[in-house]
Amino acid sequence: MPRIICAKCEVEFTPKLNEVGLVETFRDDERPAKIYDADLWECPVCHFEVVSGLGLHPIAEHYKDDMQKVIGQYEKTIRCRELRKVSGYRG
Ligand SMILES: [Zn+2]
Repeated sequence: MPRIICAKCEVEFTPKLNEVGLVETFRDDERPAKIYDADLWECPVCHFEVVSGLGLHPIAEHYKDDMQKVIGQYEKTIRCRELRKVSGYRG
């Protein structure tokens, strides 16, 4: 588990919700490109939220999966424009 510290409040974030769907959209429009399983964390003081814990590989991709069906399986989804590539990963 990652440990995340709120630099503003000087306290450790706490897990808010496991298994949120992180929906990576294409850079130029809002269509979902990939979906990752992730966790939502929250600062207990200022309530700032961060998404962490996503794996290197998406659980769904636009060219082979029914994105709306996968998105619908999550209690909560969070959108993010095209993620940067992780070093050494060719996904
Ligand atoms: Zn805070």
